[in-house]
Amino acid sequence: MTRTLLGALLVALILALVAPAGAQAKDPRWHFYTSDHHRYRSPWFAGAHRIMIGFGCNRSPWYAHDSRCPGSQGYHHGIDIAMDCGTPLYAGLSGRVLSPSAPGRPGSAYGVHPFRLRVKAYGRSVDILIGHARTVFVKSGERVKAGQRIALASDSGAPDGCHLHFEVRPVDGGYHSAIRPRKWLQLRAVV
Ligand SMILES: [Zn+2]
Repeated sequence: MTRTLLGALLVALILALVAPAGAQAKDPRWHFYTSDHHRYRSPWFAGAHRIMIGFGCNRSPWYAHDSRCPGSQGYHHGIDIAMDCGTPLYAGLSGRVLSPSAPGRPGSAYGVHPFRLRVKAYGRSVDILIGHARTVFVKSGERVKAGQRIALASDSGAPDGCHLHFEVRPVDGGYHSAIRPRKWLQLRAVV
């Protein structure tokens, strides 16, 4: 065996050992409409992932033009975090699962299993809506504790690949009333 071949095998072996720890499998449908390249951890999901579309006005093609936004930009009512299908989602805060038919009922754009958790935090009660979940492990009316696994991420209702849509609304509010969600998501950048 030549030294070059031996060297190439050694490099391949090192890459095979190192790559899985830092790699994030990429969904070819993902497109990132943000200049933020950080990966974030959160009590709401496993692993560390990038923001795909932030809250508010953005250049993605998925939202109708909104008068609050410049040019032809649309308005996103939550934060999208790109993560592989099957990534576990947790309750980042304790709360109660709302009935799907409770006021503010989410439409089909959120997927087949959108669910809402009413939580009290930062001095107020809000409804937290998780969109695009595939498997939901909690039932309407159930009390969930912070840290409890509640669902798995998926691409249900999402043409732009597997991700978590995280939205915060005032109690019983519709999507038009959504507020800046970042505080409740408790993102911590990976350094
Ligand atoms: Zn979204």
